Amino acid sequence: MEVARVEAAGNNRGLFHHWHDPDPHSLGASALEFLHCLHGPTCIHLTGNDSSRCRAMATLMHGNEPGGLYALFELLRLGLRPAVNMLCFIPSVDAAKQAPGFVYRMLPHCKDLNRCFVPPYGATEVDHLAREMMELIASARPECVVDVHNTSGSSPSFGISTIMEPRNAALVSLFTHRMIVTDLRLGSLMERTHADMPIVTVECGGAEDRESALLAGEGLTRYFTFENVLDASPADMSLEYFHHPMRLELAEGGEIAYGEHNLLQDGVTLLPSVENHNFGHVGTDTLLGFVAGSLEDNLRVRNGNGAAAVGDYFRLAEGRLYPRRKLKLFMVTTNPEIARKDCMFYITELS
Ligand SMILES: [Zn+2]
Repeated sequence: MEVARVEAAGNNRGLFHHWHDPDPHSLGASALEFLHCLHGPTCIHLTGNDSSRCRAMATLMHGNEPGGLYALFELLRLGLRPAVNMLCFIPSVDAAKQAPGFVYRMLPHCKDLNRCFVPPYGATEVDHLAREMMELIASARPECVVDVHNTSGSSPSFGISTIMEPRNAALVSLFTHRMIVTDLRLGSLMERTHADMPIVTVECGGAEDRESALLAGEGLTRYFTFENVLDASPADMSLEYFHHPMRLELAEGGEIAYGEHNLLQDGVTLLPSVENHNFGHVGTDTLLGFVAGSLEDNLRVRNGNGAAAVGDYFRLAEGRLYPRRKLKLFMVTTNPEIARKDCMFYITELS
């Protein structure tokens, strides 16, 4: 495997390795081989037809979300010249490489990289990686950034922006027709969006879903090849918007299980079928699962201002968990570890 052109970062001994215009024959025969060509966090630089402009993308921010990497691998293999210079960040290579590959969101005992992009910065290697990525982006001055993810469960695709701006919407519309505008602040890359550099997250759907691979491939091809990616008119986009989602989280130290009946003495058991409600409506009689103990001791609802009253959105009837009002659910996970460390799902109120 040709790796000679993967250089360590400049003289400040950065964490990112830099690879300039990789030879399409040097990438390995599969995305997994391509991953193993990389020596750690990598930034691939591609020269575009118009090298006075630049765009950036990131993928594999989470090691178990390979959709964007598959799509990038296919584009690199075609040797296709992008419309403008491209900066392609592949940060969580080490987590993704852990056998059997693309299983770990992050390395054990490490922070979630996509929670480290806003101050105050910590001092771990993950914090340094986030900071270095922002410095590389700042010095390249891309016209926009797209951060490509997969959802942790099976899900339709959607884009996320922290601001309601036409240029952010135009970026999302290259990939999908659902757009979430969130006021939740978690420390993710897209929170660094500003007027001169729109940044959005694209969730391509579940890593296992065939549709997500197609969507990532088509979206990224548009992002690479379109002369202009920021000027789509609202009429052309026909986006469906979801405003101000809230997160349903486990209370600190809480337990979670998935099953058809209550599995815990103390904690939350969700029905595995909650995943089927992704982007669907749930009413006040939709059983979501079971809670042993009180609602408030087990669950938290978080909105853009902090905590919301969990009892405003959910209710318990003899230990059975129902919505208190009509809700739309998305990013539903059935992975207990993600539910514990991140959240169970997001909700928006239906008007
Ligand atoms: Zn992710």
